[in-house]
Amino acid sequence: MHKDDYALDTQMDLWHDYLTMNLIDVTKSFATEDQCLDCLEGMRWPDGVRCPVCGNDKISRVTREAKSKNKRTRIYTCLEKTCKQQFSATAGTVFHNSHLPLTKWFMAVAIVMDAKKGMSALQLQEHLGIGSYRTAWYMVHRIRKAMVELFPTKLSGIVEVDETYIGGKAKRRGIARKPRPKKDMVIGMRERGGRVRFFHVPNLKADTMKKLLDRHVSPSSKRIITDSAIIYDFAMDKDFQKKHESVNHSREWVKPGDIDIHTNTIESAFSLLKRGLIGSFHRVSIKHLHRYLAEFENRFNMRNAADRFEQTMRRMLTTEQMEYKQLTADSVEA
Ligand SMILES: [Zn+2]
Repeated sequence: MHKDDYALDTQMDLWHDYLTMNLIDVTKSFATEDQCLDCLEGMRWPDGVRCPVCGNDKISRVTREAKSKNKRTRIYTCLEKTCKQQFSATAGTVFHNSHLPLTKWFMAVAIVMDAKKGMSALQLQEHLGIGSYRTAWYMVHRIRKAMVELFPTKLSGIVEVDETYIGGKAKRRGIARKPRPKKDMVIGMRERGGRVRFFHVPNLKADTMKKLLDRHVSPSSKRIITDSAIIYDFAMDKDFQKKHESVNHSREWVKPGDIDIHTNTIESAFSLLKRGLIGSFHRVSIKHLHRYLAEFENRFNMRNAADRFEQTMRRMLTTEQMEYKQLTADSVEA
């Protein structure tokens, strides 16, 4: 194992212990539907319940005569005559139309965030005692969707950029070997000592790379380090080229004379990602790969944020609902 991989693993293990405590806290604090609803309502309506359709704050609570199983228990009606909308704290969010108790959703979020190497639908189904695999699968994809960073800020400092293939074993470096077809490429960027970004791309073309660099690397970054692939010369404008350093991986792993020039930290992130994909997901459908990447990215980038559970729950509330058929259209389940 590479030295940096080991360091990363140790770091992840410590982090894992801490997160496991987080799951226990979540299980204690959100043991009932009421506790979960209090939390969601507080996040969604810090100034009191409002109608999600017209914004009116004149609302009444609907009292259900018989508490039907697994139905949301706190329903409101908008009192605006032209509106009359009925809603709950989860209306229009990723929780929408889910028959699972919120307590299971809360635990699922904590578990997915805990899982150093990712969490498959099957594992989640077992951990939470969810009736069907399909339900667990739909749930975990909705959590992943909420983990997609919608407004990512640019990476700065020393940024390493590298590419890897997912799903094929042939090495891209070294002696020419016939590449296996249908491998999918992931471009990774890592701010040394900081955040990581992964992108699923259909091919490695200079304009694809240029767009990603322009969008995700800060003009004020100190250095951009890549391997010696020729594509980077075409993908960088003059300002980026001035900071660009490359290391020729067929000859060396660290640039002689400057030990800081390497791409080891993005390589470590790739190896963690791959171990996760192998360990947890037996058949990662390419259609869903971007969501798996978002999950890894988010978990990694939030590792030091004390309020990461809360942040993810907030995102669950602001992420639009995703229909099951949207997820499964023209794809194989994975
Ligand atoms: Zn209304």
